Amino acid sequence: MSLRENSPANSSVTGVLFESDADTADGALSADISQLKKAEKREFKLVWRNIILLSLVHLVGLYGVYLFLFHAKWPTRLFTIILYWMGTVAATAGAHRLWSHRSYKAKWPLRALLVFFNLTTFHFSCFHWARDHRVHHKYADTDDDPHNSSRGFFFAHVGWLLIEKPSNVVARGKSLDLSDLYADRILMFEHKYYFKLVTLLGFVLPTIIPMYMWNESFINTFCVAVVLRLAIVLNAQWSINSVAHMFGTRPYDKNINPTQTVGVSIVCLGEGWHNYHHAFPWDYRAAEWGGSSLNLAAAFIEFFAKIGWAYDLKTVSPEMIERRVKRTGDGNPIDAMPTDHELSPMPQSLLLDESHFHYKQLQL
Ligand SMILES: [Zn+2]
Ligand SMILES: [Zn+2]
Repeated sequence: MSLRENSPANSSVTGVLFESDADTADGALSADISQLKKAEKREFKLVWRNIILLSLVHLVGLYGVYLFLFHAKWPTRLFTIILYWMGTVAATAGAHRLWSHRSYKAKWPLRALLVFFNLTTFHFSCFHWARDHRVHHKYADTDDDPHNSSRGFFFAHVGWLLIEKPSNVVARGKSLDLSDLYADRILMFEHKYYFKLVTLLGFVLPTIIPMYMWNESFINTFCVAVVLRLAIVLNAQWSINSVAHMFGTRPYDKNINPTQTVGVSIVCLGEGWHNYHHAFPWDYRAAEWGGSSLNLAAAFIEFFAKIGWAYDLKTVSPEMIERRVKRTGDGNPIDAMPTDHELSPMPQSLLLDESHFHYKQLQL
């Protein structure tokens, strides 16, 4: 009998969050989670404000596609792409790999940069993001998961944002240890002033800059650089919860819903290797390999490790990965390593010693 099975508090946990949560030597839980992944029949309270706002974002965003293709000036297009990259890197390298999973450490200039990037796009403060994401991993694909993919594609993609957050999900968020997040003053500053800051950096400035810098029209800059960009960033991020929990292979763990999805990795800078990520969430690469064109977030972290702003990057040993693949993989081949350029291994001095991994004793 495992410790986890004996503990009522952990009876609905379906995923590891940090390496210390693992029960087995290959980083997994010992409990059978197949019965826990489900969606019970429930009534949800719709939040009409969100339904109307997100509908408008998508309608105006569609018009923005037309303007982007046929009317916007080249600097506006480039500006939109740069802002998309900034918002996405903030979510992937910042809110996700740094703050949700503590997969590496960052000095204050990098944390400030990531918060600044995050404020260019409206997808919650990094604190809010990280808290919900920790709940997602711990209770993945159950009713305690904010975007439970067992409830279907639409719910996992956007439906969860159109309803009042269920009280059980709120309670799970409150039950987590978030002391590391509360201790980060840059994170708390962003969280405290989030709506004022995101209004300025995500909406007002991206509208004004193209108008004053290269004489773009208001309609082009607002519909393209603000609304279309927001729609694309949000849908790309949401696709991790929907597409990468439903479609693709499960070479690392066939017992969990998350999958390997190359398309999601392209639009989300390396977040589509989601079966690996849920198997080993503390790995800064969120994939079996590091920085490449299919994992630009890892390349971003590695660049800052080389200049000293990121350190203690955590990885998983090839032996542990192999053990896990053999024990729980679905038999599909591991995706080929990108060949677009030579992958240079991270210097050992920048990586955290792998001996940090300690799993719980199974036997009482
Ligand atoms: Zn996930
Ligand atoms: Zn994650």
